[in-house]
Amino acid sequence: MWLRLLVQWALFFWCLLLGIQLGLFVRHFQSGGNAPYYPRYPGVEAFLPIGALVSLKNWLFNGQIDPVHPAALVLFLTFLALALLSRKSFCSWFCTVGTIEEVLWKIGQRLWGRLWQPWFWLDRLLQSLKYMLLIFFIKLIVLDMPLAAVRGFLAAPYWAMADIKMLHFFVSLAGIPLVTIVLLLVLSLFFRNPWCRYLCPYGALLGILSFFSPARIRRDPAVCIDCGTCSKVCPARLPVDKKIQILSPECTGCLTCVENCPQTGALAMAVFKRPLPKWVFPLLVVGIFASGVSAGMLSGHWQTSLSYADYRRLIPLVPMLGH
Ligand code: SF4
Ligand code: SF4
Repeated sequence: MWLRLLVQWALFFWCLLLGIQLGLFVRHFQSGGNAPYYPRYPGVEAFLPIGALVSLKNWLFNGQIDPVHPAALVLFLTFLALALLSRKSFCSWFCTVGTIEEVLWKIGQRLWGRLWQPWFWLDRLLQSLKYMLLIFFIKLIVLDMPLAAVRGFLAAPYWAMADIKMLHFFVSLAGIPLVTIVLLLVLSLFFRNPWCRYLCPYGALLGILSFFSPARIRRDPAVCIDCGTCSKVCPARLPVDKKIQILSPECTGCLTCVENCPQTGALAMAVFKRPLPKWVFPLLVVGIFASGVSAGMLSGHWQTSLSYADYRRLIPLVPMLGH
């Protein structure tokens, strides 16, 4: 769907811009103030989901919204709300990793004329990896991390510089992380979405929440001509033509099946069993995202509490933090 591609690529270039802007922001401080100053945009905190989980625990149990990276929590909650209301749409509409993987498997499909898929048992086994990773993080942070440790983490310089550490990680990629990323990129030319399908704990969490979403792909068997196109085009390889509704946590609400269905009225995204006109679901997805971000901004939980002086003091320490 062209609208989804538009949103995906707008978000992709926006994230690229945020990364470049963060790099220029850091360069200003590293140059001792000689390089021009560029502001840092809080949107980069979307890339701190583990810290956001700690922040969520702090909010729920200590009653405080972390002022250092409030946008991390706002965006995390926005994406959870997206999953609850509009399935795992974060993955196919907003996630930059999902966008890169989608481009690669489409290139692979063109190059080789087909894509591969693991045997059924191996596919299921590999899919369980992302749930294991999710359980690991839930146990580590939600269950085992004492509230005092939560407060300590959020007050530490490591958390204050988490976005800048992440930038360093990506610009100085080497060793095992580099090999892993290259391997995943190469695999994406042969298999659909290996990271999203098998390894992403964020996607696993959103998929579980999407079980409760009132939005579902619904097929009307009275109108359907059983051509099987919907199943063939589904990036998540779901048996759409065999189901009345799609409840799978793998459904990302990408609407590819609906777009390709040749029979008007046979397939639609539906809310509480009522089929939606094609333009409504994209509006819902973008509207939830915009509302979440606006709520964060208007409530004063968007900009960091860190000052220019804090960054001037902490940025030189970044290479030492966490070692
Ligand atoms: S069932 Fe339809 S909306 Fe869900 S992932 Fe497959 S193609 Fe996308
Ligand atoms: S693409 Fe449409 S008509 Fe074909 S099987 Fe799927 S729902 Fe039925």
